[in-house]
Amino acid sequence: MLSKKLESLTPSVTVGISSKVKEMQKNGMDVINLSIGEPDFTVPEKAKAYGIDSLNRDCTKYDLVAGILPLREEICKKLERENNCHYTPDEIVLASGAKDCITNALLAITDPGDEVILPKPYWVSYPETVKIVGAVPVFLDTKAENGFKATKEELESAITPKTKMIVITNPSNPTGSVYTREELEAIVDVCAKHDVYILADEIYERICYVDGYTSIASISEKAKDITITVNGFAKSLAMTGLRVGYTATNKELAKAMGSIQGHIVSHPNVTAQYIAYGALLECEQDIKDMVATYTKRRNLIIEKMDAIENIGYVKPDGAFYAFIDLSKVAGKFEYKDSFSVEFSDKFLDEYKVAVVPGMGFGLDNYIRISYACSEGEFTEGLDRLAKFIDTIMK
Ligand code: GLU
Repeated sequence: MLSKKLESLTPSVTVGISSKVKEMQKNGMDVINLSIGEPDFTVPEKAKAYGIDSLNRDCTKYDLVAGILPLREEICKKLERENNCHYTPDEIVLASGAKDCITNALLAITDPGDEVILPKPYWVSYPETVKIVGAVPVFLDTKAENGFKATKEELESAITPKTKMIVITNPSNPTGSVYTREELEAIVDVCAKHDVYILADEIYERICYVDGYTSIASISEKAKDITITVNGFAKSLAMTGLRVGYTATNKELAKAMGSIQGHIVSHPNVTAQYIAYGALLECEQDIKDMVATYTKRRNLIIEKMDAIENIGYVKPDGAFYAFIDLSKVAGKFEYKDSFSVEFSDKFLDEYKVAVVPGMGFGLDNYIRISYACSEGEFTEGLDRLAKFIDTIMK
């Protein structure tokens, strides 16, 4: 007998598709994987050296629940330098990836039945994690003409006495939209007025193609107090498998998340934390080089999408995703339940290209592609998408 929670739980669509593709590739099939957001770079050698050195020094015992102190100190310096946010090491909690940080935050803040507002489209794991902890996801409709960014009015209309938190992903996964400072200030105003926490998922903040990126916690003391900043090393440093994320919060929340983590995992893997530490100390240029490559890819992908008839897209200002609007195609495509799922399945079966159905993000007329892969892969993938759409529209 399994728990009731599982009745409404759906497995991660991003992880599911990517695992399927890896299996197909293992079986010798030539599949282009534009599904998962996993950088095609490797962890910089200079960062790896810190992990190797820590093993040679036998740093393999239990360590502090919140994470190794040198890393937390270095994270504080990074937040100061790059995000204009002032934190002390006792306000930082390392966890096994950003997902784990989100779970820690939800466990620390919500009681069963509390509501968490998720602007649509949302990243696939938010609703499920909210449900796992017994809270209730409340989906907030946003507008395509606003780049699907939540506005003050939209947010105000969704808040109830049970609202505990809103999740703002900036830059957004899946759209790549980036909030301006003014847009964030408006959100902070509403949340401060109603005592609502902001979970600021800033995992893509280094991969941003517009000037003036603003971290929510930098807006004001009040903003900092109600914000749980989530960040990590997977996206900007290609450390997806090492699973190192962190939260920056007020002390009370950091302490609460530490208490929870102390029971669940003790602390994240120490070797991985030393690699993250090395990355912060030594790999600034590597990050810049990777971001320069993403920028080139992003420009190329916009060019390619502009040349495909019958699609639209959200202008990607950050992250490494394009969220493609297939509303016109949906009108011509025969499907039973979910357009984006059936479209993506057929695209994979017939054209050997894996994408993520918009349904996973709450918008069924869309698909998401990732350009965290080689130029050759995503250009070929988009050429095949153009062909597939042509055959549907004929
Ligand atoms: N966050 C990435 C994505 O959206 C990695 C997969 C996952 O954890 O969902 O593709």
